[in-house]
Amino acid sequence: MKKNISIAIDGPGGAGKSTIAKAVAAKKGLIYLDTGAMYRSLAFHAIRNGVDFSDGISDEEREIINGLWENFDLDIKYIDGLQHMFVNGEDITGFIRTPEVSMGASKVSALPEVRVRLVEMQRDFGKSADIIMDGRDIGTHVLKDATVKIFLTASAEARAKRRYDELLEKGQTVDFDTVYRELVERDKGDMTRAASPLTQAEDAILLDTTDMTLEESVAAVLKLVEEKA
Ligand code: C5P
Repeated sequence: MKKNISIAIDGPGGAGKSTIAKAVAAKKGLIYLDTGAMYRSLAFHAIRNGVDFSDGISDEEREIINGLWENFDLDIKYIDGLQHMFVNGEDITGFIRTPEVSMGASKVSALPEVRVRLVEMQRDFGKSADIIMDGRDIGTHVLKDATVKIFLTASAEARAKRRYDELLEKGQTVDFDTVYRELVERDKGDMTRAASPLTQAEDAILLDTTDMTLEESVAAVLKLVEEKA
């Protein structure tokens, strides 16, 4: 039986992972899974259930989060080619990109018991299709045997600028310094947590997109994929 193609893209926030992965998926006929959206969906649901992520997660809040699974039916659907997240039948896609949810996602993702559940869903998802997945631990943990692993990065300034422009485009009122500070804080949390921290897999190819346009980044990733898959 032919083995499915699996492509793992990891890296810090704002490196362009999802935009690039989406473009590569469209070009190569792969299913794209944005795993960050799964952590974001859980964080959003936790906020709705009274968890405040502006400081650390208290024992009481951890208990609330762990109690959410009983009533957390997470569904992923592709509508006009875009990944939509449904929680208990409600499309929450439009609510999960706020700074509050970003910080919440980073915090829930540090809980090992949360990772175990979401990683299982991600692996199931990748079993029967040619897939490109992006996240923080795809090459190191979720898809250890991925056909191609890419570690995508860019300077913190460049990444914060991209995030800032993205938020402005969506009509959100933000200031650059806050976006920058939150991004650096989130990177630090993602890289220093005990459970599956963000690191480059030994067999991943490093791609720094600081001085690259989006088109150049997509072309570079496509080239790497075509060489290997
Ligand atoms: O990629 P995105 O910024 O949407 O991810 C939101 C947060 O989810 C990240 O800051 C990270 O803490 C967490 N995450 C993770 N593992 C993944 C994907 C995302 O820990 N595979």
